[in-house]
Amino acid sequence: MISLENVTFQYQNQTEPTLKNINLALQAGERALITGPSGSGKSTLGNLLNGVLPEEFPGELSGKIMIDGKNLAELDLTALSFEVGTVLQDPDAQFVALTVAEDVAFALENDARPAAELHQRVAQWAEILQMPELLKQKPQELSGGQKQRVALAGVLIDDEPILLLDEPLANLDPAAGKVSMELLDRLAKERGLTVIVIDHRIEEALQVSFDRIVVLKDGQIIANDQPTAILQSDVLLANGLRESLYVTALKDAGVDVSALVSLDDWQ
Ligand code: ADP
Ligand code: MG
Repeated sequence: MISLENVTFQYQNQTEPTLKNINLALQAGERALITGPSGSGKSTLGNLLNGVLPEEFPGELSGKIMIDGKNLAELDLTALSFEVGTVLQDPDAQFVALTVAEDVAFALENDARPAAELHQRVAQWAEILQMPELLKQKPQELSGGQKQRVALAGVLIDDEPILLLDEPLANLDPAAGKVSMELLDRLAKERGLTVIVIDHRIEEALQVSFDRIVVLKDGQIIANDQPTAILQSDVLLANGLRESLYVTALKDAGVDVSALVSLDDWQ
């Protein structure tokens, strides 16, 4: 579904590439957590996949990016937006309408669908995302978790096969983050979505069952493996990232974590 071969990207106003020789392949339906210290290039990678780069921030891109069988270089932004649904870190920036219902419908209005279909699909998605009561409210009046659900509905309503979330946990308290991650997990499984979550909050993000964790550092992939293998290793702690607390506790207690399976699924 997604493949990057020797991808290097340098912002126009930088003297060195921010992403260096990235190789990454995700199958359809695969769920990946992309993590790494602040400034490691996570958002840059996400923004390459959804077309924000080099569209909004120019730079030099080399290598090959394939999305859903198409070469990114040959996709325009509109075509790409039908492939990759993005939920931004700050959902406020994503809201365009006066009510939640209008906002969710905006994606569909953009491709001029009939009004009846619009109403039916907004209602359907409000149900799936457990927010029928929110539809008439102003997006700005919602809690962080509710805003995220609205943003999620706004991108899912278009049936994009790939869902990209950059720091979905940034503005949420732990309880709201848990609700969001569980909802994402359920939707991704039910709909077979390919999911990329970008976040350095590893324990919280692992409330989604990921197939792999990709660790970025200084613009390079330094680890790419199943969550259990990543948690068994010391790659997270060694790079200033916090692994799940129970994993650190097990290691501190002298438990041989290399013998444990499903280390990411202990909650
Ligand atoms: P992360 O999301 O992992 O924190 P980013 O991809 O946002 O990392 O940023 C990585 C580096 O890329 C930054 O340290 C900065 O040097 C550079 N960078 C990010 N955005 C821009 C931009 N719009 N213009 C120029 N350089 C940028
Ligand atoms: Mg970022």
